[in-house]
Amino acid sequence: MRIVVVGAGLGGVAAAVGLHRTGHEVTLFERAAELREAGTGIVVMPNGLRALDTMGLAADVRGRDMQAGLWGLRDRLGRPLLVTDTAQVQQVVGTPAMIDRADLHRALRAPLPPGLVRTGSPVERLESGDTEVTVISDGEPVARADAVIVADGIGSTLRAQLFPDHPGLRRTGRMDLRGMLPRPPGMAPDLLVSQLVDRRSGAMFGLFPVGEDRLYWFTDSLLDGTPPDADEARAQMLSLMADWHPLVPELIEATPPADIHVDPITRLAEPLPSFASGRIGLLGDAAHAMPPDLGQGASQAFEDAAALTRHLTGGEPADVPQRLLSYDAERRPSTSRMMRAASRQSRLTSQTGVSAWLRDTLLRAVPSRLATRQLATLWQA
Ligand SMILES: Cc1cc2nc3c(=O)[nH]c(=O)nc-3n(C[C@H](O)[C@H](O)[C@H](O)COP(=O)(O)OP(=O)(O)OC[C@H]3O[C@@H](n4cnc5c(N)ncnc54)[C@H](O)[C@@H]3O)c2cc1C
Repeated sequence: MRIVVVGAGLGGVAAAVGLHRTGHEVTLFERAAELREAGTGIVVMPNGLRALDTMGLAADVRGRDMQAGLWGLRDRLGRPLLVTDTAQVQQVVGTPAMIDRADLHRALRAPLPPGLVRTGSPVERLESGDTEVTVISDGEPVARADAVIVADGIGSTLRAQLFPDHPGLRRTGRMDLRGMLPRPPGMAPDLLVSQLVDRRSGAMFGLFPVGEDRLYWFTDSLLDGTPPDADEARAQMLSLMADWHPLVPELIEATPPADIHVDPITRLAEPLPSFASGRIGLLGDAAHAMPPDLGQGASQAFEDAAALTRHLTGGEPADVPQRLLSYDAERRPSTSRMMRAASRQSRLTSQTGVSAWLRDTLLRAVPSRLATRQLATLWQA
């Protein structure tokens, strides 16, 4: 079948490879002038890796498996709140990969034949007919397809066109900073793979290793108005986190502003009514943008890509709408649950005052067996 994928982010590229490998005639439209993914790190959870496996895409990503160790929530001074030894979980559900985003994107797009990708091609509109969809860019029809996969990310304009009554994105009133830097020599491993939370400000600092020699860190804190530039945001975090575990301000300070990304945290106000509209299917952040707190956004996009590939395998143009409805029935309930869980996790880590004190007290009392089971559920998704 002729299949157009709109958006060459992590989800769109994975879907394009999966669909191409199962024999479809795929064209991937990307508005940016070149295929690439902006810096910093990302965690691919075991469920995301399993989805990539089904499309033959995980080999290069699995090389960056997280080493067994401690994973969990700590207070701002680095003292454990809910810390789990991951060795047991890894044996049962597998190991996440911690990887540079640019390397992940490169590994995913490597199998795509160059002729299949059209960069510098923003898709403006999709016109649905009974037997095909026409893709419009720069006011001109640029392709006709039996199916179109919309993977244009969190700010998707096509989502808004397909579901004009949906309320769209909602800002959470928080912002994130992300940075990556060389791992300081001799750094103690105890804080690796941790999220530190502060019950005074409700801010969070997360940290994990990327390969042997780099660290990826991220923060989550209140946002008043529009996000500041990287210089100002870095200064704000240094002041907010000055009396946290000494490693926190040290790492922020050691990261040049040019290597820091600042974004307001947004999510879909509510789940979409469907991931399918006739011959058009949605995947990834376009379908289910969620707060980043569970590190599941890309892994869910990979599960979407794998499911779409499966549902469209062996299909005929006439049965595309029915097959996309089956895809919707498989993916929407589980991604809606994940959206709710990510919002809950965001509320949990950003609590302040008495409720944060209560949270910390309860988390410290959780038996390790329960903590291990909770982590396994999160990774298994
Ligand atoms: C701070 C933070 C940390 C995160 N950490 C993790 C993590 O550890 N693990 C994880 O799994 N997820 C994480 N996520 C989420 C993850 O990054 C996203 O869920 C994932 O990148 C979504 O991929 P996507 O392909 O759906 O969209 P995107 O990666 O946004 O790709 C969309 C693509 O579409 C293109 N595009 C847009 N409009 C058009 C158009 N009209 N025509 C053509 N092309 C278009 C864009 O240029 C872009 O290339 C995090 C997110 C944030 C904000």
